[in-house]
Amino acid sequence: MSETIFTKIINKQIPADILFEDDRVLAFKDISPQAPVHFLVIPKKPIATTNDIQAEDEAVVGYMHRIAARIAAELGVAGDGFRTVMNCNAHGGQTVYHIHLHVLAGKPLGWPPYQERLKE
Ligand code: 5GP
Repeated sequence: MSETIFTKIINKQIPADILFEDDRVLAFKDISPQAPVHFLVIPKKPIATTNDIQAEDEAVVGYMHRIAARIAAELGVAGDGFRTVMNCNAHGGQTVYHIHLHVLAGKPLGWPPYQERLKE
């Protein structure tokens, strides 16, 4: 797959507000937050979309969720709760083709999300 902006963030070629990093994943604040708390958890392995997740990637995708919950706890939003979203392709609203778990929190979040947009 072609390199995305997230590869540049992993390689520290462009800055990001990093919340967690190890050899498998990176978590950083979203540059355009859609909730009081909005960060992304990405695998360091570039996987383009949810459709491209292979059996060998199952562990890191599960680990992304554990890291999301750990960071949410550190930020004090785990108890009230949060939403995790992974958009896939055009109809899912994906814009960066390196899978990422959105973690949104800090206020009650409407559901389904598109109903709120329809009211705007
Ligand atoms: P998608 O639309 O693909 O599900 O989400 C991509 C997300 O990446 C968006 O929420 C967008 O704000 C975020 N994003 C795009 N470019 C950057 C960047 O350079 N830095 C950071 N921190 N977030 C980015």
